[in-house]
Amino acid sequence: MAHEKFELTGISSVALHAAGNEHAEYSHIPPIYATSTFTFDTAEQGMERFAGKDKEHIYSRWGNPTFKVAEQTISALEAFGLKDESGNQLQLKSLLHASGQAAMTTMFMSNLKSGDTILSHYSLYGGTYELMHKVLLENGINTLIIDMRDLNLVEDTIKKNKIKLIHIETPANPTIQCVDIEAVTKLAKQQNIIVTVDNTFATPYLQQPFKYGVDFVFHSTTKFLNGHGSAIGGVLVGKDIEFMKTKAWKWHVLIGGNANPFDAYLLIQGIKTLEVRMDRHCSNAERIADFLSGHKGVAQVNYTGLRSHPDYATAKKQMSHYGPMMSFELNGGLEAGKKFINNLKMCVRAVSLGTVDTLLSHPASMTHYSVPREERIRFGITDGLIRMSVGIENINDILNDLDQAIS
Ligand SMILES: *Cc1c(COP(=O)(O)O)cnc(C)c1O
Repeated sequence: MAHEKFELTGISSVALHAAGNEHAEYSHIPPIYATSTFTFDTAEQGMERFAGKDKEHIYSRWGNPTFKVAEQTISALEAFGLKDESGNQLQLKSLLHASGQAAMTTMFMSNLKSGDTILSHYSLYGGTYELMHKVLLENGINTLIIDMRDLNLVEDTIKKNKIKLIHIETPANPTIQCVDIEAVTKLAKQQNIIVTVDNTFATPYLQQPFKYGVDFVFHSTTKFLNGHGSAIGGVLVGKDIEFMKTKAWKWHVLIGGNANPFDAYLLIQGIKTLEVRMDRHCSNAERIADFLSGHKGVAQVNYTGLRSHPDYATAKKQMSHYGPMMSFELNGGLEAGKKFINNLKMCVRAVSLGTVDTLLSHPASMTHYSVPREERIRFGITDGLIRMSVGIENINDILNDLDQAIS
C-alpha cells in the first residue's frame, strides 16, 4: 500500500488514505460487506482462522471488512503525529460499535467490576450520566461526580477514595465546560487510575487525548465523525493493543454491540471531509459567538473561544480550535427559550449534534429532561439554556435566522 512508504503530513490525507485504497474487485470506495458470515475453503483453513493464524473474517459480530476501514481510519486520526513511550509512531486499536452507548458499555464493563468506583465531572452527556447512575450502579459500580476543573479537589478525592477509572468528557455537554486532560491524567497516573476521554465534541482534528497519556478515547461517531446525521455509531480506541484484542474485543463481542456494514460505510464517507467540515463549523461558531455576545436578548454565551468563559485557557491549551459547540441563555428564561426555538426558520430544531446543518435544542425539556431540576441547575443547565451545534451553512443565513428568532 502506497501510504506505508509515504509519510502523510496532514489530517485530511490520513482521513482519506490511512486505511489504504485497495478493495475487492479494484473498487475505489470500500464495499458494504452485508454478510453475517464468511466462508472457509477447507476445515484446516477454518481451524487456522479460529486460531488467529489466518486473519480473515469469521462472523460479522466479531468483525467485518467494512468496519475495519472505519476502525483503521479512526485509529490513525487519533494517533496522528503522536509517539509512544519508545519514540515510535503511536499504535492504536479501535472497535466500532452500534452506538456510542454500546462502545461506552464495552469501555466501562471491560475495565470495571462490582465494587469499583468511577470519578467523573458533573457536566456529562445525558446517556453517560444515566448509564453510570442506572446500569453500572445496579451492577455494583459506583460513580463519584465532582467539578474536575478544580484540580485540588481531584487530587483530594483520589487520595481519599479508591478510584479505579476517571472519565473525562471535554468539552462537556451541554455547558461546554472543559477539563484539563493533561493535569487530571498526571494526577490519575500517580495512583494507577485508568483514564478514559469522551472526545466526541472535539474530534481528533481539534484534540488528541492520547498526547497526554490517557488510556482510552471514546467517540459517538453519530456526531462530527459521521458529520451528516445519517447513522448511529460509536467507537472505543485503546493504546494497549493486547487488551483491545483480547478483553475489550471479547466484551464487545459478547455484549453484541457490533456496528452494521451500511452505517460503517456512511461513517467512512463522512470522515473523509472531517477537516474541511470542522474548519467551516469552527469559523462559523466564532462569528456566531461574537454576534450572540453582543445581542441584547442574550444573557450569557457559553463558548470556550470567548475570554469570558471560565475554561478559555484549558480549551486554548488542549484544543487546536474552540470547536463548533456552544450554548446560550436568553433573557426571559423558559418562555423566551421556547419562543426562540419555535421562531427558527432555517436552523433545525433537533437534539443530537455534529451534522453539517445547524441544530438547536433545549436541554431542560429535551436531553436533560430526566435529570432532576435541582441537579440540572447545579450543573449549569438552566431553564432557558439553548444548545447549538453550528453547521456549515452560509454564515449570514445562520446569523439572520438567529437574529429574527431572538427578537
Ligand atoms: C451522542 C453522545 C454520546 C452517545 O452516543 P450515541 O451514539 O447516541 O449512542 C456520548 N457522549 C457524547 C458526548 C455524545 O454527544
